[in-house]
Amino acid sequence: MIVFDLQCQSGGHRFEGWFRSSEDFDGQSSRGLVSCPACGSAEIAKAVMAPNVGRKGNQMPVMAKPVDAPAQAMANAPLPPEAAALLKAVAAMQAEAIKSSTWVGEKFADDARAMHYGEKEPGAIHGRATVDEARGLVEEGIAVAPLLIPVVPPEEAN
Ligand SMILES: [Zn+2]
Repeated sequence: MIVFDLQCQSGGHRFEGWFRSSEDFDGQSSRGLVSCPACGSAEIAKAVMAPNVGRKGNQMPVMAKPVDAPAQAMANAPLPPEAAALLKAVAAMQAEAIKSSTWVGEKFADDARAMHYGEKEPGAIHGRATVDEARGLVEEGIAVAPLLIPVVPPEEAN
């Protein structure tokens, strides 16, 4: 005897069915002899089995991002309250930090470097840098951090 996880095609109900063999199941289901215990549908197929891997006791369930989920849907989905609160806190912290910082726009990498090498009065600045510029600064040991919330440059504010 073998047991199959079965699923009715009309209602999606899952149940187990015992058969002498795989051929026995095929024969019975093609003659409409297998029916769903929940709704009586005779359109029955073997349920898709999840591969039995990673089910060990010390392993946590892992969620993967569904590949066919459109990215747009994710972006439009409302944030969970704790994420929204966190984002708000980050935004507030950033706004506070920027108050005492000077916007230097595209000169950010040059200014940061000049301050680091003592060619310019040190002070808090923020501005724009390309990924390459930022990487170059970090490699020179200059502390830079990406702003988590996009900042509207003063000259573009109006
Ligand atoms: Zn059913």
